Amino acid sequence: MSNSHAQPLLPHIALFPCAGMGHLTPFLRLASMLSSSQNCLLTLITASPAVSAAESTHISLFLSQHPKVNHLEFHLIPSDPTTITIPDPFFLQWQSTNHSLHLLYPSLASASPPLSAIFSDFVVAPSMGTMAAQLNIPNYIFSPTSCKFFCLMAYLPNLLSNTSDICTLTQVEIPGLAPLPMTSILPPFRNPNHIFTSLILQSSRALSTAKAILMNTFHEFESDTLASINDGTALHNINLPPILPIGPLKDLDIKNDHQDKYYLSWLDNQPKESVVYVSFGSRTAMSDSQIRELSKGLETSGYRFLWVLKTSKVDKDDIQEVSDMVGESFMERTKNKGIVLKAWVSQQDILEHPAIGGFVNHCGWNSVMEAAREGIPVLAWPQHGDQSVNAEIVEKAGLGIWERKWGWGLEGLVSAEEIRNKIVELMEHEKVRSCSKKVGEEARKASGIDGRSEKVVKEIMQSLMQKR
Ligand code: UDP
Ligand code: UDP
Ligand code: UDP
Repeated sequence: MSNSHAQPLLPHIALFPCAGMGHLTPFLRLASMLSSSQNCLLTLITASPAVSAAESTHISLFLSQHPKVNHLEFHLIPSDPTTITIPDPFFLQWQSTNHSLHLLYPSLASASPPLSAIFSDFVVAPSMGTMAAQLNIPNYIFSPTSCKFFCLMAYLPNLLSNTSDICTLTQVEIPGLAPLPMTSILPPFRNPNHIFTSLILQSSRALSTAKAILMNTFHEFESDTLASINDGTALHNINLPPILPIGPLKDLDIKNDHQDKYYLSWLDNQPKESVVYVSFGSRTAMSDSQIRELSKGLETSGYRFLWVLKTSKVDKDDIQEVSDMVGESFMERTKNKGIVLKAWVSQQDILEHPAIGGFVNHCGWNSVMEAAREGIPVLAWPQHGDQSVNAEIVEKAGLGIWERKWGWGLEGLVSAEEIRNKIVELMEHEKVRSCSKKVGEEARKASGIDGRSEKVVKEIMQSLMQKR
């Protein structure tokens, strides 16, 4: 019998995000894109138990609405009680994931049909690289930050070994890239023993085992960095695989009908581009004193606002009432002007809404890419991690403004008056508004049909198809 009509075997890809919504969200977006538009089988690996309620909710909603995606729940070895003192539960989970990873090999090796590739988080790069080599399949690292910050992470082993005390530097010079001021280097990178730094160092040393690095960015947004990396000018002394921009990833097509999205109905009644949206992502807690200054700054700016508040890193610990945080009288005075809420919101629906005119944000990279897709001007207020590097990219791309002297949000107190002035500047800055719209057009073009980012994903899928 002729087998000329036999279906080609589809590639089977395992996706492994690490803890934190900033990591899970882009992986789910990638999974959603691959399952809807590409011919492949997918297995989503999730570490269990998840740290936050937001992660558990999104994993279940995603799986129930993508029944073809297999789920591999990976039970972590409980943390060593001596490490429980690590103040950040997400970093603790990254460490436990790395300690448990050897247990994952049998499940990967027995996957049916056999795996064709792994798309794994940067945090698990060392073990994933080794396991992929044993399985004789490529490991693609997917890193949910900016290309510029990724370069800093890749360069970190060299930086720390070449410099006796990085605190004495005034700037960090990554070969082939514009120097980064020391003020943009997150404080933990000054300490090789900090858990965040030690995890990044391990992953950076294992980069050469990856087939390529996929990034949720797009060419026009980070053109200088991407060009210098891929033509070999930047980081020429490091054995770095190609960096492939596949962003900005599209919205996640999952629905949560249980959630009351009254804030969207409220936005429906506000004039076009009149509302300031304020949010600092999924894991940034703000101090009580900073919340008070922000509330006064918002009120005196005179603009309408939608403000999502958080006072703890992990959502399950957020138990304070909104009125206790901002005060009953603020709520009363501003009831016709704005909404303050303390819950998970659908940020993608908010940023898409025509009433939104500006975004006060910490510059978590997912938020930056979401603002870029919608062409919404950002007031960058970095709090930690990659966010100062990201803020600089936002400013340079014309997507927003950044007040450098505010420093790291968590370290000082920014006054109500300064906040008010910057909000007014954000909302009235015609040049930034028109530039942001242009960024939005470029962003949608990059990830649209035949856009540069879309083509990269197609090429990867074709190469995996040919190997089957
Ligand atoms: N997010 C959301 N609703 C919230 C808080 C966050 O939809 O109430 C989403 C946001 O749109 C983004 C992700 O969670 O996709 C947060 O990632 P980001 O990189 O912006 O910041 P992080 O939370 O990692 O600091
Ligand atoms: N949650 C989420 N996405 C949603 C709805 C909820 O991630 O679309 C998470 C969120 O972290 C929240 C938790 O699940 O804290 C419980 O959500 P729910 O809306 O049921 O309760 P609420 O936040 O109003 O207490
Ligand atoms: N951090 C980060 N990404 C995040 C949150 C924090 O890189 O999403 C960095 C940040 O610079 C912070 C450090 O990790 O200062 C550790 O945070 P934490 O407050 O848990 O510990 P500490 O700074 O007290 O050691």
